[in-house]
Amino acid sequence: MCIKFIHPQRARCRLCHAPALPELSLCEGCLTALPRLVHACPRCALPMEASAPPETPCGECQADPPAFELSRVPLRYEAPVSDLISHFKYRRGLSDGQLLAQLLARHVRDTTLDVQLLLPMPLHPSRLRERGYNQAAELARTLSRATGIPWNSTLLRRTKAAPTQREANKRERRRNVRKAFVCESKNLPRSVAIIDDVVTTGSTARAAAAAVKLAGAERVEIWAVARTPKPGD
Ligand SMILES: [Zn+2]
Ligand SMILES: [Zn+2]
Repeated sequence: MCIKFIHPQRARCRLCHAPALPELSLCEGCLTALPRLVHACPRCALPMEASAPPETPCGECQADPPAFELSRVPLRYEAPVSDLISHFKYRRGLSDGQLLAQLLARHVRDTTLDVQLLLPMPLHPSRLRERGYNQAAELARTLSRATGIPWNSTLLRRTKAAPTQREANKRERRRNVRKAFVCESKNLPRSVAIIDDVVTTGSTARAAAAAVKLAGAERVEIWAVARTPKPGD
């Protein structure tokens, strides 16, 4: 007679296939090795030198303060984070999206939150049709479950398609995204967080935050999984 024992399968680490931590598809080692964003502008998350005075905004935020109050960004946009984000964004790797949202949730849960609504960074409708889904909305959905803060994917909308930002210089980028967003003022609470996967130049976050402020929010935070390592601005 053959008796089979069925062991419950422990989840595996997404990066190295070792047994994963509970509630996170990463093992302890891979979690510790992730490229953390440690030295950064508290306002826009621009990576800064380790020698820069802590809690001091970067030169640009001092000279031209953005409409958002602060950014919460746990990671640098480097491998393996960049691979997870690309897989999630362009190949609809939803389990990677869950993992990225969990990492962001752990980061924001460590602090006292003064946010009443999560708004995913919107895609222009034509881009949404092309890609099939908005990765920022997937992040916001998981973050909402993890934090208990409600989310809404229709209040903030994109009315102008984004050109290829990488090729434009800073002034062009700012011009391209200015007035690219509208926000419904209905049901907007005092303090709002805009959710995105990556902050690349900050121009998009500035424009979206300005639209949310125009709609009546008093405080806006930017929550993103990663910040590109090069200033780019
Ligand atoms: Zn691992
Ligand atoms: Zn800054």
